[in-house]
Amino acid sequence: MKDEFWFKEFHHKGFYIGFKKKKVLKEFKSKYQKIEVFYNEFWGNVLILDGLVMITEKDEFFYHEAIAHPPLFVSEKPKRVLIIGGGDGGTLREVLKHNVESADLVEIDEAVINVSKEFFPDIAASFTDKRANIITEDGVRFLEKTENKYDVIIVDSSEPFGPSSVLFTRKFYSLMKDKISDSGVISAQLGSYLFHKKFISEFFKEIKDLFKDSYLYTGITPTYPGGLWTYGIFSKKNLIKDSVWKKDIQTKYYNELIFKGSLKSEI
Ligand code: SAM
Repeated sequence: MKDEFWFKEFHHKGFYIGFKKKKVLKEFKSKYQKIEVFYNEFWGNVLILDGLVMITEKDEFFYHEAIAHPPLFVSEKPKRVLIIGGGDGGTLREVLKHNVESADLVEIDEAVINVSKEFFPDIAASFTDKRANIITEDGVRFLEKTENKYDVIIVDSSEPFGPSSVLFTRKFYSLMKDKISDSGVISAQLGSYLFHKKFISEFFKEIKDLFKDSYLYTGITPTYPGGLWTYGIFSKKNLIKDSVWKKDIQTKYYNELIFKGSLKSEI
C-alpha cells in the first residue's frame, strides 16, 4: 500500500499509529495549526491537528466522557462551566448532559470549530445549545480578562506544544484557581500514561500544591498513543474521593468506578 494513502503518528522510533486514508476530506493550515480530516473505513472521520489524532467518530466518547463527567460530579453545585480548547464540541456535548446554567467554550482556533461542524456534526451538535457560549480566544488571555467565576473549568487542550503550551504552566493553574468558586473543580487532559509519563509526573508535582485536593486519573482512548490517557482533577476542598455520581446521566463507557479506581497521587 503506497505511503501517501497512510497517516502515520510516530511516538517512538520503533512505533507508530497508522490509519489508511480512504478519503482525504480537508487539509489546510489555519492561523494556529495544520488541520487534516480524512475518512478511515473503521474509525470513520478522523481529525488531526499538527500531526496528532484529536478525535475519531468511533472512539471520541471514551475521551470526552472521561474529561467532562468527573469534575461535574465532584463539584458541589456545577452551574457555570468553562471549557478551554475543546473546539470539536465533544466535551461541550457531555457537559450539557448535566443541569448546568451555562457552558463557556474558549477555543483559540475558529477553524477547528468550523471543521467539526462540517465533518463531525454529531460531536459539534451542542454548539447550538442555548446554554453554550462560544468564544474564539486564547484561554490564558480570556482568563486574565474575565470577571466570571466558574464551578467547573475543563482544559481540553491539545498536546503541550504549539498553541496549547501556555496551558501547561503553573501560572495558568494559579489563574484558574482564582477563577473557580470555593467548591469549584478543574479537570485537564495531561497526556499518555505510557509515552508522556515523565512530563505528567513532573508537571503534576509542579502544580498539585496549588489545590487542597489534587489527583491524577485515567481512562482509555483507543486511538491515543498507548491507549491509556491521563487526566488531572483539582479542587480547593476535599471533594474528589468522596464524590457521588448521580445515576440520571447516561454514559457509554466512563463511570464512577473507573474514575475512583484510577485515582492516583503520583505516577
Ligand atoms: N482531545 C484532544 C487531545 O487530547 O489532544 C484535544 C482536542 S481539542 C480539538 C484541543 C483544542 O485546543 C484545539 O482545538 C486547539 O485549537 C485548542 N487550543 C490550543 N491551545 C489553545 C489555547 N491557548 N487557548 C484555547 N484553545 C486552545
